[in-house]
Amino acid sequence: MLKSKKRNNHERIILGMLRENGSMTKYDLADKMNISIPTVTTNVNRLLEEGVIEEIGVADVEYGRKPILIDINYNRYFSIGIDIQEHSIYYCLMNLKLEMVTEERMEHTKKGLCEDLKNIVKILLDKNNLKRENIISISISYPGFVEEEKLLLKKGPNINISNLSLENLRKELGIEIYVGNEARLAAFAESIIGVSKEYLNSIYISIKEGIGAGIILDKKYYIGTSEAAGEIGHMVVTKDGKLCNCGNRGCVEAYLSIKSLIESFNAVSTQKVNNLDELFEIYDESILEQRLVIKEYLEYLAVLINNAFLIFDPDCVIIGGKMSEYQEKIEGFLKEIMTEYACGMLKTDRKIEFSVLGYKASKFGAALRGLEDITQLT
Ligand SMILES: [Zn+2]
Repeated sequence: MLKSKKRNNHERIILGMLRENGSMTKYDLADKMNISIPTVTTNVNRLLEEGVIEEIGVADVEYGRKPILIDINYNRYFSIGIDIQEHSIYYCLMNLKLEMVTEERMEHTKKGLCEDLKNIVKILLDKNNLKRENIISISISYPGFVEEEKLLLKKGPNINISNLSLENLRKELGIEIYVGNEARLAAFAESIIGVSKEYLNSIYISIKEGIGAGIILDKKYYIGTSEAAGEIGHMVVTKDGKLCNCGNRGCVEAYLSIKSLIESFNAVSTQKVNNLDELFEIYDESILEQRLVIKEYLEYLAVLINNAFLIFDPDCVIIGGKMSEYQEKIEGFLKEIMTEYACGMLKTDRKIEFSVLGYKASKFGAALRGLEDITQLT
């Protein structure tokens, strides 16, 4: 099995270049990296030995000996990314080119999560004709608190699975396992292959049934001292305000969760809705009561975004989760409201982006996390 290792800078750049450009010769690499051929050769040989890259043929040149083309070994090593949600488990198989080879979904079964995960591994191996040695790692995204080192899915207010350690599963499968919080992994995915690819620092706000954030600083996700960084849903914004799921009052989540938006909307609308899709289907900004509900919602969101800018001064704040699907409906209004909260302390505009990976972000983030130790993407 391929073991995680610390890559030297040259190896990391070679892998990055092959991912970006496709196959290259050692001469191309030496030229682009501005290093000597022997240095390239030493590093390439190491990667060849590990099987992370391979020789795929020769380059077509007019004169002299044709140089060997090398490329990432896309068909040998893979990472499994899994996103556990309340009703479904979303999973994918990603290759070293960061491409999705398989993407599927299954319902939880009565057998429990560990059995379901074993089954997913089997399905992916069978479907792609692979062996366990081909899998670098399995990474799990969980909507709640995790303890990464202990592989512990600790507690999630919106999910029925808690205090579950995956340590035994790791031993049983003989495959490395990682666990991570869903907003954090979604933030990581956006920063590697999504909307914040070009930025070093970004804050991803996940708006679903709960509110959470992923904090990316210098392209790494920040977990905090007790692994609770990004729990912004429970920052109090109104003293003695609305009751939150956590038992406290006035938390951001009590105002910004999709459930709370739907409740506020139904309180004023003659036509009742059950979910966000239905809400935006009938939302009519010319109806004052409806517009005021959305306005109040976006005011709380603007406060949260502004606070994120003031704490971290990131390149951008990303709206993620279900709400990101409604960029068209909320972006203009939100930016208008944001201008009211300008404080003049930040040098640049407070850039707001919307997730491009949508509901797949956490699953992709998990798969990318699994490749991180082998390829060092950041
Ligand atoms: Zn709370």
